[in-house]
Amino acid sequence: MSDLFWLTKTGMHELAHLHFADADASYESARYAVFGVPYDGTTSFKPGTRFGPRAIREISLNFESYEPSTGIDLSLIPFTDLGDLVVSRLPEEVVRQVADVAGDIVRDNKVPVMLGGEHTATVGMVEAVEPEVYIVCDAHLDLREEFDGTPYSHGCVTRRVLEMVEDVVIIGARSGDSEQFEVAAERTQLYSADTVRELGIGAVLREVRERIGGKKVYLSIDADAIDCCLTPGLGTPEPFGMTPLDIREVVRTLAPHAAGFDYVEVAPFDSGQTAAVAAQIVREFIARHWAAGR
Ligand code: MN
Ligand code: MN
Repeated sequence: MSDLFWLTKTGMHELAHLHFADADASYESARYAVFGVPYDGTTSFKPGTRFGPRAIREISLNFESYEPSTGIDLSLIPFTDLGDLVVSRLPEEVVRQVADVAGDIVRDNKVPVMLGGEHTATVGMVEAVEPEVYIVCDAHLDLREEFDGTPYSHGCVTRRVLEMVEDVVIIGARSGDSEQFEVAAERTQLYSADTVRELGIGAVLREVRERIGGKKVYLSIDADAIDCCLTPGLGTPEPFGMTPLDIREVVRTLAPHAAGFDYVEVAPFDSGQTAAVAAQIVREFIARHWAAGR
């Protein structure tokens, strides 16, 4: 993979490409490699997640580089932004592209961080990272065998992951047909949105942490895990969900265990709330992972 320089010095001016704030390291020196997948080809309700990566990068520039809870300045963490994949129209091909890029990043001993785009791309990330445990926050079970004629629909992501990873934990779900809930009961550890509310996210995460021990984790955040009344920039909005603080707690707790991360399904036709949460959570992931010395 080629090195990318984001600031080009001309005679008098610096030209900046739009990239995630503080992602200024060269590829060679980076510990984390961010990339976007502007794809929403299997979207079933409201399209727009193809604009997610750009919106997340734009709003990331709004935040201070200093992250007070870890005491870390993100500008001192070596991470880079590779830009967006030029995506195919076919979902199975997009999964292939993501697996290729993420595979390069993993082989170069870096942590891939993907900005969605629809959830489908996560299948390629999991293929590349090969985790022992897959943990996803999502309003939807995503456990359909196929949807709209393709097994690579955004509604089939967790089902495809189950073909690669035995240990799957779903947090925040509140939507799926009865068959999917049966699959979830048999083959996953499901903490529904109601369960999160009843137990509190801290208690849920204590259980999850015990479960994962020292195993290699992949962490995926579908933006619609959060209640659509709080972050309405969603292609498939669901109320009665988790809060942004719940998601932050998930990432703070699990980032040190994760070998790969994504934040997907941001459809930025709101006032920027959904992308703002996404950008802060991506920063949180990088800061927490780095602080843990992984
Ligand atoms: Mn999903
Ligand atoms: Mn979802």
